[in-house]
Amino acid sequence: MSLPLDAVVVGSGPNGLAAGIALAERGCSVHIVEGHPTIGGGVRSALLTLPGFAHDVCSSVYPMVLATPFFRTLPLAKHGVEWVHPPNLVAHPLDDGTAAVLRKSVEETAESLGEDGKAYRRLIGPLAAKSDALMADLVGPFRLPRHPFLALKFGLPALRSGRGLAEAYFRTTAGRALWAGLAAHAVLPLERRPGSAIALMLAIAGHAHGWPMVRGGAQNLADALAAHFRSLGGTIETGRWIKSIDDLPPAKVVLLDVSPRQVIALAGHRLPRGYVRRLGKYRHGPGAFKVDWALAGPIPWTAQECLSAGTVHVGGTLEEIADAERAPFEGRHVEQPFVLLVQPSLFDPSRAPAGQHTAWGYCHVPNGFTGNMTEAMERQIERFARGFRDLILARRVSDPAAIERYNPNCVGGDISGGVTDLGQIFTRPVARWNPYTTPNPGVFICSSSTPPGGGVHGMCGYFAAQAALKRIPAAPITEARPERG
Ligand SMILES: Cc1cc2nc3c(=O)[nH]c(=O)nc-3n(C[C@H](O)[C@H](O)[C@H](O)COP(=O)(O)OP(=O)(O)OC[C@H]3O[C@@H](n4cnc5c(N)ncnc54)[C@H](O)[C@@H]3O)c2cc1C
Repeated sequence: MSLPLDAVVVGSGPNGLAAGIALAERGCSVHIVEGHPTIGGGVRSALLTLPGFAHDVCSSVYPMVLATPFFRTLPLAKHGVEWVHPPNLVAHPLDDGTAAVLRKSVEETAESLGEDGKAYRRLIGPLAAKSDALMADLVGPFRLPRHPFLALKFGLPALRSGRGLAEAYFRTTAGRALWAGLAAHAVLPLERRPGSAIALMLAIAGHAHGWPMVRGGAQNLADALAAHFRSLGGTIETGRWIKSIDDLPPAKVVLLDVSPRQVIALAGHRLPRGYVRRLGKYRHGPGAFKVDWALAGPIPWTAQECLSAGTVHVGGTLEEIADAERAPFEGRHVEQPFVLLVQPSLFDPSRAPAGQHTAWGYCHVPNGFTGNMTEAMERQIERFARGFRDLILARRVSDPAAIERYNPNCVGGDISGGVTDLGQIFTRPVARWNPYTTPNPGVFICSSSTPPGGGVHGMCGYFAAQAALKRIPAAPITEARPERG
């Protein structure tokens, strides 16, 4: 490795890789250090159950990769990424044997929602038509939007809670349930603002670009990002957990793809006490409890629409989902959890032996929850797919502690990089004009604990790299300076 480097990135999650790529594209010498033996952070695959079954350890479905402005500009296909688009984006089964369905087309989704169709078209249609312009304004730090009228059209409904919007716009059980399921991705009580922001973004992104998966597994996306990074001259080292930024190779700047807690552990001695104190107040949300299944056949959903959807929202009505999503914030778990389920092998046979299948599901539980939700999750799936349990060949259970052990960014099992309520959605990890910077001009934060938050889109890394580029010419890592303002 040639020294001195322009930048070292700690962590090879999608944001660490995005930061590395954005810097290397500008001619910087960049080295990424990853603690795990493999690269990818939340974008990895592994053999978690039986031979021949490839599971995505974390993420599987990528509504934001193609909808946001950085990753979609990269030559991912050249490096082996083949997108798999399930015919339907989301299915939401109900007890009467039907399912609400989020389809690629706004029109078809609206039609399937019956009397709620008109409201869906009115809410989503104009925004989905301008998805790319909207995303360019939304996925990043808080700034004056370039398309103010469009941003306002998005912002007014987005500021509502998931439940508030569902009850204001939709009348039917199916319409309300579909919205509740989308809002549950925000990992907020459905009564809390701005839960509808995430629901809107996911719907708009889906109508514009789908909710694709990667053929062969998530790891192929991480590997393609790494291959592109290396083609630009970047280097990656795996199997080295960093305990202090002092242990890193000399570089003008360091970008940390880690949680605020780890920023303190790694760089706290190089940061002013006031800033460290504010980082220490950063709030993590509920944990995830995840189960990966190897199955003898496709999940026998009662509602046939579920068989053509990559993602299935298993949780019944708005009221049930509201209770399930409120519970973890109140330190309790429910017997009927809301299960986010993904079934990749239905659309990508390379994931499992012929005729057999993989699926994963997770539900939200209190941060650091030590109980076992396996039985409750499988009962919920069985409710809408009788015979599911008989198909289970093997399962791998990951409770919040296991998720955190696997990736220390997931504090207490929080997979979103911190709560995304109004108090933290723009001001993560602390309120600062440029949230990717720290008071130390050589230290930057690029993880999902910066705007725009969780999910695989790389925008946190991209924006952190833009901030770092301003400092690279003459910014060696310095001692802490008193914080101003
Ligand atoms: C179970 C689960 C399911 C998910 N499903 C989806 C989904 O379907 N779609 C979606 O868009 N998002 C999903 N997500 C969220 C998504 O994976 C994350 O938001 C995203 O990966 C965050 O990216 P990141 O680069 O900020 O951090 P991470 O992906 O967490 O990467 C951080 C990397 O840094 C490394 N690291 C941490 N500390 C150190 C250290 N001290 N030294 C060296 N290396 C270190 C870690 O090993 C890790 O590789 C899911 C997450 C989980 C856990």
